[in-house]
Amino acid sequence: MTQLPRNTTADYGDFPFCPWCREAPYELTVSLEALMVSLQRGLGHWVEVEPDGSTDADIVCDCPHCSKPFAVALKAEGVVLIPVRTEADRRLLAGEGRA
Ligand SMILES: [Zn+2]
Repeated sequence: MTQLPRNTTADYGDFPFCPWCREAPYELTVSLEALMVSLQRGLGHWVEVEPDGSTDADIVCDCPHCSKPFAVALKAEGVVLIPVRTEADRRLLAGEGRA
């Protein structure tokens, strides 16, 4: 299975890059609902990402540059962008794995 790229991080005085295309997703918007659910679970809540790219993250966004999805983890010290896969991508990769 194709490897996911590395997470990217930034402290709150800086801005993170998309883990997929390495552009800064300045136009990214996060829904208030997702933000509230995430903060209710607490800063630093551990975001799980399975090897197939599925996640339990509360905040999952599509990059405004490359349209690829990443989870947003809010930590006390900053933000972490974690590359994930769409369901369609997971199915595609699983199909490739069987062939
Ligand atoms: Zn991107």
